[in-house]
Amino acid sequence: MTRRVRTRIAPSPTGFLHLGTARTALFSWAFARHHGGDFILRIEDTDVARSTQEAVDQIIAAMQWLELDYDEGPFYQMKRLDRYREVIAKMLVEGSAYHCYCTPEELDAMREAQRARGEKPRYDGRWRPEPGKQLPEVPQGVPAVIRFRNPVDGEVTWNDMVKGPITISNRELDDLIISRPDGTPTYNFCVVVDDWDMQISHVIRGDDHVNNTPRQINILRALGAELPEYGHVPMILGPDGDKLSKRHGAVSVMQYEEGGYLPEAMLNYLARLGWSHGDDELFGRDQLVAWFDGHHLARSPAQWDAAKLNWVNAHVIKGMPDEALASGVVRQFALRGVSLSVDERLKRMCAVFKDRCATLAELADWLGMYFLDIKPRDEDLAAHVTATVRPALQSLRDRLADIDWDKGTIAAAMKETLSTHGLKMPQLAPALRVLVCGRAQTPSIDAVLELFPRELVLLRLQGA
Ligand code: GLU
Repeated sequence: MTRRVRTRIAPSPTGFLHLGTARTALFSWAFARHHGGDFILRIEDTDVARSTQEAVDQIIAAMQWLELDYDEGPFYQMKRLDRYREVIAKMLVEGSAYHCYCTPEELDAMREAQRARGEKPRYDGRWRPEPGKQLPEVPQGVPAVIRFRNPVDGEVTWNDMVKGPITISNRELDDLIISRPDGTPTYNFCVVVDDWDMQISHVIRGDDHVNNTPRQINILRALGAELPEYGHVPMILGPDGDKLSKRHGAVSVMQYEEGGYLPEAMLNYLARLGWSHGDDELFGRDQLVAWFDGHHLARSPAQWDAAKLNWVNAHVIKGMPDEALASGVVRQFALRGVSLSVDERLKRMCAVFKDRCATLAELADWLGMYFLDIKPRDEDLAAHVTATVRPALQSLRDRLADIDWDKGTIAAAMKETLSTHGLKMPQLAPALRVLVCGRAQTPSIDAVLELFPRELVLLRLQGA
């Protein structure tokens, strides 16, 4: 590759960072990092009515959470309007753009007539300058739009990084409006100027933009710009085969952060949605960067699989240091309005429970037994805290009141109680769990108990 690799993600700040955009960002970022190039963040905020600062903040927060660090930006299109106007002025002079004074009514009539003749509706070029052509007289009071003078012959071909060669005939392409009657440049045009000015070498984006690409290529050619490579990534589908949307659950990256997913897991899972490296399913950030050379991008759409994401997340949780897990748990409790801090005890709790959790939210659910009131279910109480077991629970409580508070001594106290009362562990342990932990199943009960303050255990066993 001779050209310096420069990629970008160009979200429109009309909402949170969608999973699909996050995946495109990830691919663009990984590709740039793989080649030692640059990754750029550009905010496409020309849809003023729908763009908000809050959405910009959310997008940036999501990028930070995923650690998709950008080398340049954020650039805002609304701050570049002068530049777009400058380029349009140059194109008008050079003849690659022209004023069109058609009124909306005229355009409607044009389309109607075309439809009536069984033709595809398109701009008929009435204001397009041609050698020797007499243009209509400029009407009074009609604000002009500016159109790009698209080539009429030939075709546009590019070798898509994902889809392979794509060819579109110029006959299919209208003379695109690049500036509206109020003088604001249009979306396709801003993208072109930005990709040109920012020297983007590879445009990786969703395949909902495939139809824009031949138009953008034509404008870039008219400007004498070097063309980027294009890669159009298929949509992410929901489990029912429709485009992934809110209907299928969370589609905002930050909702996953709140749900207790780890950025490493999101990164790993998102990367596998539409890209593969052999049979590798579990990998880290560095491996992704080492492998992501722009090949093996899938042509067919990937389907969102919540169970698989959970599997990846569980794997990441298992491999995490207890300290980091404890920080994550503090965050989860904060979201629930409970303030905790990372300490040795919390770290040990994480170590005891982490194997059973797909998310940090689940881990916090488990650890709730230590920090919140418990509510044993009536059926658990009825099934386990029986008349046979109650006396043993009472005498265990007495023993626990007066021993060293560690796992081994607690286990010994339980054994003594069992033998005194002629009971077996599967009778005593579930009853203890229901009363102290609020559920009938937990990891090894002695390890769970030692992390409680003794007083709380005694309190919960009172009146057993
Ligand atoms: N702003 C566009 C979007 O959010 C992206 C355009 C591009 O990547 O070229 O879909």
